[in-house]
Amino acid sequence: MSSTPSFDELGLRPELLRAVAEAGYTTPTPIQVQAIPTILRGLDVMGGAQTGTGKTAGFALPILQKLLPMANSSPSPARHPVRALILTPTRELAIQVEEAVKAYGKYTGIRSTVVYGGVDIRQQLPIVRAGIEILVATPGRLLDHVEQKSVNLSQVEIFVLDEADRMLDMGFIPDIKRIMALLPATAKRQNLLFSATISNEIKKLADQLLNAPTLIEVALRNTAAETVAQSVYKVATDQKRALLTHIVSSRNLWQVLCFVRTKHGASRLARQLEKDGLKTTAIHGDRSQAARLEALDDFKAAKVQVMVATDVAARGLDIDDLPLVVNYELPYVPEDYIHRIGRTGRAGATGQAISLCSPDEEKLLAEIERMLKRTIPVATLDGLTPRSPDLFTQRPSAQRATREVRETRGTKRPPHAATPASHSNSPASHSKSHAAHADSHAPRRERAADADDRNPDQAPISRDADRTGNPSALVLTGAAGRPSLHRKRPIPALLMKRATREPEKV
Ligand code: AMP
Repeated sequence: MSSTPSFDELGLRPELLRAVAEAGYTTPTPIQVQAIPTILRGLDVMGGAQTGTGKTAGFALPILQKLLPMANSSPSPARHPVRALILTPTRELAIQVEEAVKAYGKYTGIRSTVVYGGVDIRQQLPIVRAGIEILVATPGRLLDHVEQKSVNLSQVEIFVLDEADRMLDMGFIPDIKRIMALLPATAKRQNLLFSATISNEIKKLADQLLNAPTLIEVALRNTAAETVAQSVYKVATDQKRALLTHIVSSRNLWQVLCFVRTKHGASRLARQLEKDGLKTTAIHGDRSQAARLEALDDFKAAKVQVMVATDVAARGLDIDDLPLVVNYELPYVPEDYIHRIGRTGRAGATGQAISLCSPDEEKLLAEIERMLKRTIPVATLDGLTPRSPDLFTQRPSAQRATREVRETRGTKRPPHAATPASHSNSPASHSKSHAAHADSHAPRRERAADADDRNPDQAPISRDADRTGNPSALVLTGAAGRPSLHRKRPIPALLMKRATREPEKV
């Protein structure tokens, strides 16, 4: 028996209940149960929740309801000032949130739109100038609109800061402060802050933004960790690709989301996996908006086997029911591990998360395990402990991978510090750099030395990674000096429970 209230018991109006029913929701999620009545009462909220908890409906539904009396069909832009502003760190999340607002608000007559960088601002001008009640935006592009006077924030009644922890990581706080200065006084608006993690820095931000907030926390962190079967392969860096290819192709998996740390690394791995015969795409901040959306669409439609992603690009993506998330490289920030594996095992479904941990990543693994308060089981191939140098010798793709590694060994990678990764930080260049990368500000907080292999759309390194490990220390060798595995044997550690998806005909 459940004591969960229904949506109509939360005080929502029929226009919204109808849209909720059409979205197929029968019961509110825990964050919705708490957030909807609180926001309807006009209180500020500090929400400890991440994407996947239903938090978007948790704030969008009451916002729409509060704005219902202001709905009108006047053609005058003056009758449609921005009354609710929702800030998100990434374009993808902004798009997703606005789609949700549109879906929930389809019977309300409230106008909404989304603005984000990476696309021509001129396309957005007529829509925002025509007037909209709910604006979803990434911070940089919003400031561009303010500079162009296409958006006026002086009548904002409700301000939402979504994924505040990621905003912090990405160096958006100065922009957010500038935006807050353009809003009516804190006391005159309702403020909602959502963050997957509530650190001291987030609390400080909340102190400046929120007025006697109600704290609402939903514990997805451990839930995600519990519904996802996690395992880690101890593997040399130069064998990761062969292992990944083996995992995906031996099980004919589709929709595998594979995380790496850098945009550069994402492109390279995607190219290499394609060469290995896997249908692959990549999503990261260096790709155009159109390319990112296309990659995402293909992935959602199960037209690709692997999507290689950086943390920030994949952040907040609402992709349901993924069979497998692979941490090809462990994240520098342990919390990112939770975000990554949260892409699978959603809504109680079982999911799998596999991490490929090279010797130099042992420290990162230890930090993740400390955060999880548990150890992640070590997976082995075919019952062998991971010590076979010939592990993949029967697989042509792996031979190729090893050969390529050998060929490049000893060749130091040229520094990339002066690549597009280096963004200008000066106020003068602010507008331009935003137009190009509205959500790519991470380098602002980085040391120059890190710029070499860092990702501008990746959270800054907060802990030192051990880069001194000996990559050959854990080279896969047979437990008893036994060489290799059989070519086609499945990997027992991969207990894939769900049916394999078949690719759609393209
Ligand atoms: P969010 O955390 O807002 O990104 O939501 C994650 C996913 O949950 C989205 O696909 C929503 O459509 C879905 N969702 C939100 N609320 C509910 C609900 N009450 N019942 C079922 N699914 C929901």
